[in-house]
Amino acid sequence: MNIIMLGGPGAGKGTASTELSKDLKIVHISTGDIFREAIKNETELGKKIQDYMNRGVLVPDEIVNDVVKERLQAPDCANGVILDGFPRTKQQAEVLDRIFEESGKKLDAAIELSIPDEDIIKRLSGRRICSNKECGAIYNVVTRPPKVENVCDVCGSALYIRKDDNAETVKVRLEEYHRTSKDLLEYYRKDNRLKTVYPKIDSSVESLMNEIKKILEI
Ligand SMILES: [Zn+2]
Repeated sequence: MNIIMLGGPGAGKGTASTELSKDLKIVHISTGDIFREAIKNETELGKKIQDYMNRGVLVPDEIVNDVVKERLQAPDCANGVILDGFPRTKQQAEVLDRIFEESGKKLDAAIELSIPDEDIIKRLSGRRICSNKECGAIYNVVTRPPKVENVCDVCGSALYIRKDDNAETVKVRLEEYHRTSKDLLEYYRKDNRLKTVYPKIDSSVESLMNEIKKILEI
């Protein structure tokens, strides 16, 4: 089964994709993870991506398309994939359909996590991340606070706010999402591949997973 996970920044695509990939025993491909790895390793690709991220704008299609195409050709994708972070535009969606078609596969469903902007802003500006790179635990002052303020439960390191998560950057990212996703959602809606769920800001992972499985009829 090949699935994509859609939704604005902070909608919980990463968590939902990880859980679903465990359930369905298929690979979870996050373009964000691929990008972060490239940035960490200071590759040529990584430097370009860092520049776009700093400005709060999307990485251009031609870069992302190549990264995704190469990843989808790996043998571990044979049984199916969950893509998270791609496609973000209708043009990328068309590219993705072509990539699948070329390998005799198809995209079965596009799951949209739909959450009001004000909830997203609340959720993201509350996010705190462990400064210990080996740990990287994620907290939220609203929905998942650490036991001691600003201290990681797991390893005791200090927590910090990721640059991407400050309110101004979040607003830019939300605007960008709404602007680019309109045609994208319509693209999947018109042939009934779009499946929308409406998670609450404090929905448990379990209840979200139940909704997603219901909507996928699995
Ligand atoms: Zn930690």
